[in-house]
Amino acid sequence: MNNFNDFGLSSSILTCLESNNYETPTPIQQNSIPPLMQGKDLLGIAQTGTGKTAAFSLPIIDKIIKNKKKMKPARIRNLIVTPTRELASQIEENIKKYSKGLNLKTKTIFGGVGKRPQTQALSKGVDILIATPGRLLDLTNEGYVIYNELETFILDEADRMLEFGFINDIKKIISLLP
Ligand code: AMP
Repeated sequence: MNNFNDFGLSSSILTCLESNNYETPTPIQQNSIPPLMQGKDLLGIAQTGTGKTAAFSLPIIDKIIKNKKKMKPARIRNLIVTPTRELASQIEENIKKYSKGLNLKTKTIFGGVGKRPQTQALSKGVDILIATPGRLLDLTNEGYVIYNELETFILDEADRMLEFGFINDIKKIISLLP
């Protein structure tokens, strides 16, 4: 599939892609969007800067658009775990580009900053939560994140996560998934 129109994505996403001048899906996008649209699990490997973020984000944004839900407090529909706050912010920026005007509840949480804005957003429920492992577990232990309505879990930069020594945190997060 070498055209974004071939994936069955919502027209509102296609409009966002067009306004960002995305013409052709990159190889990781061509190979991963179809199985992800079918709800399959996927392990993807591609170099930095080759469009991985859109590869995993577009199918989850599409699912939210096609099945809008009112989220209960602390519930999250999609969880993206990533090793650093810089990566978390980059993912958020990209997701905002792909879902402009669609009114999705997206929140990024990481350590080293105040918890208050993060807990306030979580208390309303979140469609897409982007998190670093430590702060995610912290807020989970405090009761601000409940996983029973989770639909998709994405481990971004899994190799770096292991290099950074996050293995135990990742195991703990996985044990919380429904
Ligand atoms: P990523 O590898 O996800 O960090 O993406 C690297 C850069 O490529 C980002 O600035 C994206 O906005 C951009 N990008 C991703 N997919 C495409 C595409 N199919 N066409 C043009 N630019 C893209």
